[in-house]
Amino acid sequence: MDRITVIVPCYNEEAVLPLFYQEIEKIRLSMPQAEFEYLFVNDGSSDRTLPMLREMSQKDQRVKYVSFSRNFGKESAMYAGLEAATGDYMVIVDADLQDPLELIPVMYQKITTGECDCVAARRVTREGEAKIRSWFARMFYKLINRISNTEIVDGARDYRMMTRQMVASILSMTERNRFSKGIFSWVGFDTQWLEYKNIQRAAGETKWSFWKLFLYSIDGIVAFSTVPLAIASVAGVLFCLLSFIGIIVVIIRELIWQMSSYGWPSLVCIILLVSGIQLLCIGVLGQYLSKAYLECKRRPIYIVKETNTGLYDQSKGESK
Ligand code: UDP
Ligand code: MG
Repeated sequence: MDRITVIVPCYNEEAVLPLFYQEIEKIRLSMPQAEFEYLFVNDGSSDRTLPMLREMSQKDQRVKYVSFSRNFGKESAMYAGLEAATGDYMVIVDADLQDPLELIPVMYQKITTGECDCVAARRVTREGEAKIRSWFARMFYKLINRISNTEIVDGARDYRMMTRQMVASILSMTERNRFSKGIFSWVGFDTQWLEYKNIQRAAGETKWSFWKLFLYSIDGIVAFSTVPLAIASVAGVLFCLLSFIGIIVVIIRELIWQMSSYGWPSLVCIILLVSGIQLLCIGVLGQYLSKAYLECKRRPIYIVKETNTGLYDQSKGESK
């Protein structure tokens, strides 16, 4: 019998966990052909998420949990989940029921035909989301797909079922700056898409502020494109050319009309513009440098404080 591991990153999800459990149980009972494992990753919640998970795991031996020592972010939680999962197929689901669980049987049916290695869900609408947020999201996808060789699908969710083989290749990417949408696409394999309309969160609230999303989008660009660096170099060359032309114009003007000593306001503007561009380019460079700096420290992606998977030696505070 196939074993499906449902990986659920949870950060302060006490409001929705019981509901989630109830819904996923319904799905499990509708799929007698597969065995289920629920793997909750508690990403340093400060509410009652962890006690609830402990309780659930005592009642149901299918419930496994990994609990972090602090909040490491959803990317780390997904990594930990994929690492601890024991299933033949693994599916990553949000705890807030924004990912329609009814798609799990469909995913399972598609993936077991052997025609694909991954069945992923894609939101085709963004109803219920602030207009301005959707606009920025669309712009981000346009931009990143133009400057990156890795395809980042608009509306793609982390909600997807994958084979063990694909998961192994994802785990082999041990980078700290994790941008899953890029990683899933970078490893290749065949992905089939299921489309669905956006659903509102069942309870609790989103953990992503606009600012957090903005920083995340920069992470994505830095992780999957070096085009901003190239743009910085090209801008440098262009401005050199421009200044050469300016120098020649000034010399000729002085030689012919002897009137090159005016125009200091325009000079100030030019200095401001050029130094602004310089700072921008240094900033771009700094982004890459800071990411490289963090990568070379090779800090763990997450630290486990407590788990019932038996995978980590808690006394050593083991981590990946
Ligand atoms: N999440 C997490 N760590 C975080 C933020 C979020 O594990 O630092 C989890 C959260 O519990 C949820 C999923 O990631 O299961 C998606 O989060 P959320 O619903 O807040 O994001 P949105 O759906 O608004 O993009
Ligand atoms: Mg959500």
